[in-house]
Formats: sequence, structure tokens, C-alpha cells
Amino acid sequence: MGTLLEISGLTSHYGRIQALKGIDVTVAEGELVALVGANGAGKTTLLRCISGVQPVSGGSVRFDGADITTLVAEKRVGLGISQSPEGRQVFGPMSVEDNLRLGAYLRSGPEIQADMQRMYDMFPILYKKRELPAGTLSGGQQQMLAIARALMGKPRVLLLDEPSMGLAPLLVEEIFRTIVALKEAGTTIFLVEQNAYAALAIADRGYVLETGSVVLSDTGQALISNEKVKEAYLGL
Ligand code: ATP
Repeated sequence: MGTLLEISGLTSHYGRIQALKGIDVTVAEGELVALVGANGAGKTTLLRCISGVQPVSGGSVRFDGADITTLVAEKRVGLGISQSPEGRQVFGPMSVEDNLRLGAYLRSGPEIQADMQRMYDMFPILYKKRELPAGTLSGGQQQMLAIARALMGKPRVLLLDEPSMGLAPLLVEEIFRTIVALKEAGTTIFLVEQNAYAALAIADRGYVLETGSVVLSDTGQALISNEKVKEAYLGL
């Protein structure tokens, strides 16, 4: 399948600090690609450059063949780039259902209701709690809501920022099972994780980021068996 997202020679700065030092990453249609790396490696910065909320100082971001390097964030959402942010950020006082509806704010028409039903089929707990304020959900449930909300925008690529962060091990497993199910349903996913083993285990391909540079890229399986990766990221 064709390349959907293509990042070439991307650099980004915070003042004089260079957070990204020439990143090359591609994600093909239907692929699940993982980006792993330690705290501060630049993972979030790269995602922010893709969603358009972080200025790029060099290189390019292309989406479906078009250069979007300087396109405003809102227009990227319109193109189908949807992010489920780190730390979940659901709207606590609003009901679960209203949070989901918000994810479809750029769309209109009767199929929104059908998509909402699809989300409830995929996440039955969200159906059960649809009338409750999102803030009353557990951490794992809020994470599911954040993913479902992003999916309500019918994204062409789903950007996931540390979906396992702060979750108990059982919930982490559940989140990763959900991500696999999304991939199997055809969703293109770019997954950013500190939980390197779990991310690489489900990814078609992976990239290892260290202090703003990609130091390794290969299939998920090859990276898991890579001695350097094992030592530095898998604690093996
Ligand atoms: P984390 O897992 O903590 O989110 P990360 O891999 O996503 O880490 P980034 O948050 O992208 O890393 O940070 C990359 C580098 O940029 C780090 O050295 C960080 O200190 C620096 N940085 C991030 N945000 C800012 C900021 N607002 N101002 C200055 N430096 C920043």
C-alpha cells in the first residue's frame, strides 16, 4: 500500500534547544508503526510537528502526497490526521457521549450516530457509562474514550501518544489489544510509546528515537530481537 505519512529531514527547536535533528519516518496506509524511545527523546515533539501544533525548523511533513509542513493544525484534522493526546485530556464535566460527539465536530450527517454505535460496540464500557461525566471514568476508560473520540473524526491516520501511560498492567494489555483490533479493522496508526516491548510486539515496523535522532528502524519483531534494543529499552 502507498505511503500516507512521510517525514523527511525534520528538525524542530525549543528556543536554542534542538529537539529533533533530522527525522525520517514513513507510515504506509494500513500500517501500525511504533516510535519508541526514552523520556525526552523527542517523541511528543515529533507528534506535535505532525499534528501541526509545533513549529518545524527544517525538513518536511507530507501527507497523502501533499506537503503539509506549514499547514495549520485545524486543516490537518480536516485532512484526516487525528491525535489522541498524552495524558488523555477528555472533557471531564461533559458526558461520555458528548465527548464522543465532539470528536466528530468537523463532520455532519446521520452516519455520526452509526459511528457512535460502532464505538460503543468496540468499547462496551463507554456505552454503559455514556451519560456519566467523563471525569468519573477510570484512567483506562478515559484512555479508551480519548481513542474513541479521535476515531469519531474518521481519521486516515491515528496518532497515539503514550496510550499506556499511567495505566495498571491489566489495562495496558487491554489498550494494546484495542490498538491491534483497530489495526485489523484497517486503521493506519502511528503509536508513540515508552513501553517499548508492548509497542514493538504489535507494530509492523518501529523506529527507535534517541536525543532527537532515529538510531534504528526495522520491523517490530526484528527490533525486539535486536541486542541494542533489548539492552537499552527492554530491560532484557
Ligand atoms: P516524554 O516521554 O517525556 O514525552 P519525549 O520523548 O516525548 O518525552 P519531548 O517531550 O518531545 O520528548 O522532548 C524532547 C526534548 O525537548 C527534551 O530534551 C525536552 O527537554 C525538550 N523540550 C520539550 N518541551 C520543551 C519546551 N516546552 N521547552 C523547552 N524544551 C522542551
